[in-house]
Amino acid sequence: MSPKPFPELSPENEVELTESLLQWCLGNGLVMYPPNFNNFSANNSPITLFPTPLPKSSFTTAQEIQKLYNELYINVVTKEKTWLVDILKELSKYDADFTGKLFEVYQQSLDKHGQLVQPLSLGLFRSDYMVHSDSNEIKQIEFNTVSVSFGGLSTKIGELHNYLNSSGAYDQAHSSKYYEDKEIPISNSIEELAHGLADADFHYNDKKQDSKTIVLFIVQPGERNCFDQRHIEYALLKNHGIKSHRLTLEDVGEKVVIKSDKLYIKSTLDEVSVVYYRSGYAPSDYDINPDKTWSARLLLEKSMAVKCPSVLTQLSGAKKIQQILTKKEIVSKLLPNSSTQDIEKILSTFVAIYPLDDSEEGKLAQKLAFEHPERFVLKPQREGGGNNIYKENIPGFLTSLDKSEWGAYILMEIINPPNYKNKIIRNGEIFHENIISELGIFGTILFNESTGDILTNKNAGWLLRSKFSTSNEGGVAAGFGCVDNIYLY
Ligand code: ADP
Ligand code: MG
Ligand code: MG
Repeated sequence: MSPKPFPELSPENEVELTESLLQWCLGNGLVMYPPNFNNFSANNSPITLFPTPLPKSSFTTAQEIQKLYNELYINVVTKEKTWLVDILKELSKYDADFTGKLFEVYQQSLDKHGQLVQPLSLGLFRSDYMVHSDSNEIKQIEFNTVSVSFGGLSTKIGELHNYLNSSGAYDQAHSSKYYEDKEIPISNSIEELAHGLADADFHYNDKKQDSKTIVLFIVQPGERNCFDQRHIEYALLKNHGIKSHRLTLEDVGEKVVIKSDKLYIKSTLDEVSVVYYRSGYAPSDYDINPDKTWSARLLLEKSMAVKCPSVLTQLSGAKKIQQILTKKEIVSKLLPNSSTQDIEKILSTFVAIYPLDDSEEGKLAQKLAFEHPERFVLKPQREGGGNNIYKENIPGFLTSLDKSEWGAYILMEIINPPNYKNKIIRNGEIFHENIISELGIFGTILFNESTGDILTNKNAGWLLRSKFSTSNEGGVAAGFGCVDNIYLY
């Protein structure tokens, strides 16, 4: 089946629709701060006017395998810790200043018996995919284990597109809904991500209700995407009665106290049950003041609060791990209780990813990178967008490095998703352009990092992000992309 075309509106109808859309965004918090903001005014976040088509079968598969993916990654951390640690030691050699520092924090956070002070560990994860145009199969871009964003705004854009549809704004005659309700579902990511944090709070308190402990959001200074985070905070308070507090890594040292390993906010003496990192995933989060920020990270890791994520769980999201996980025998070993069918489903989402080290496979990949760069993207061990090298730029980039540094990168096949000519509204301008979309599926998992026991494992909604098909990267906050929602066909 092919999707029905985007709604066609007269110029007046489009003006009307745009006004409704922009006012809905401001009225409901589908917003972001502009660069150099003061706290008084926010803008509409970059979004699409219409939901973008996504095959139902792709969506179903992506949802079905999320809990398996959650389990796969936490099993790397719990069941194959020695293996993970060996890989991280190797990566630290290439990247002493960041991966190396994070790994050091992990080692220093262990007590004198080599144990974690708090074995409970929370993952709020997001597995990202693009749909392969020929087969409609989803192919994984990456698996994110730290600071996954846009779960807040994703629910909001689902609500917005539903509002526009229900109010008749997508229909030229304003007389009917252009889409059926079930064709444009709303992501429950706000509720479910908040629920994940509440699960950790509940288990921190040995399953006692109303424990009055709070969640500490670790945020970047001057965060423009804070409303995305606030929506989760509001749901946490409204649905679970759990308060939150926000601190930057730089301020942690002065604003918290530790008593018998427990973490408290100094000013209120509120006890922190969960440290939720929405910062700390990129070198720039520490570079502001390396002494303060790195000691803050260590102090938090050593505390009794549940970390979301722990430093080791964060590191399991390295692109290098994703590359190693593309091997069937490794996936099967890490998911010993899963059916062959489930393993096949996970494997079907992989494209080829190669190491660039001096193994046989690495040497073959080095050759490919120079002979067919147009088929690949080169990725370092970094998060947060803007770090990759694409296609024709790969050979020149590799040549500019010392060959001994190549092992720090992975070479991944380019996925080519279908194009759709949707409309994007950004900075007061409407762009009518070909876009491509990336589907993210959220999942939450609460587990014991020492024993490997899983306490909760859940799906937590989705995100569709779109970008001009001509741009390589899709960062919404960085200005390359926008928040979208799905139209299931
Ligand atoms: P980050 O952790 O920085 O977000 P990603 O692996 O998600 O790194 O890459 C950033 C962006 O690059 C993605 O959002 C996607 O738009 C593009 N990209 C990454 N890998 C591929 C790929 N294999 N095929 C096509 N585009 C890709
Ligand atoms: Mg990432
Ligand atoms: Mg990404």
